[in-house]
Amino acid sequence: MEHLFKSWQTFSADCRAASHILLLSDYDGTLTPIVGRPRDAVLSQEVRDKLSALAKKSDFSVGIISGRSLAELRYMAAIEGIYYAGNHGLEIEGPALDYISPDAELGQAMIKDLAGQLAAALENITGVIVEDKALSLSVHYRLVREEEQDAVAVIFKRVISPLADAGKIKITTGKMVFEVRPPIDWDKGKAVASIRREIMSLLKLEEVLTVYLGDDTTDEDAFKALHRPEGWSIYVGEENSSSRAEFFLNSVTEVDELLSRLLELR
Ligand SMILES: [Mg+2]
Repeated sequence: MEHLFKSWQTFSADCRAASHILLLSDYDGTLTPIVGRPRDAVLSQEVRDKLSALAKKSDFSVGIISGRSLAELRYMAAIEGIYYAGNHGLEIEGPALDYISPDAELGQAMIKDLAGQLAAALENITGVIVEDKALSLSVHYRLVREEEQDAVAVIFKRVISPLADAGKIKITTGKMVFEVRPPIDWDKGKAVASIRREIMSLLKLEEVLTVYLGDDTTDEDAFKALHRPEGWSIYVGEENSSSRAEFFLNSVTEVDELLSRLLELR
């Protein structure tokens, strides 16, 4: 794993040579710092303006892919003319794309019911946030006192076990969050591929250079789907040898700098 700015010559040369660039990014921890309450992860106006300016360039497409629901992601980012993939890509919306996984849609009642059960079972633990995202759900425990965090895991496991054991749901974990998703073979890597395909067919392109930025375990599926020269995977955070990304940037601040550099590039 190498710092992206150390490889800037190669990266910028690839970018200049590409006929079109697709810039895809995770939201939390990548475009905004990680915060205790999901609603507090506000996108800075500078980052919003830069993403918006990139999206307006004819040879750029921009998208944000998140575990959040699409509606909330769109509300938080508030940028026109970009792709949004919510629930890790189970729902995707963009300039020429409007997709929701039919299988995931069928599981909504079960997710809602499970969110209710989890909220009730965890109600005595201060700081837990159970988030029903319609197609999936999250249990955030960043605000829970350290000595109670194990209890969150135990209760979570107890409540979800019957459905998980029956193969009706899939469990993933992230930074201080447990997630429940429908058991569909779909992830951020597949979401990246489908947005890429969409842009290639829309713009009648043979190839697009895809850049993906992310900071968490669910981003690994996107990282491992990308290979140079047409795919650049960038982990955001301190150098992490367990990540599949080929490059890294240290922080959200460096991501902001990358956006500035991309704006100057073309
Ligand atoms: Mg993230």
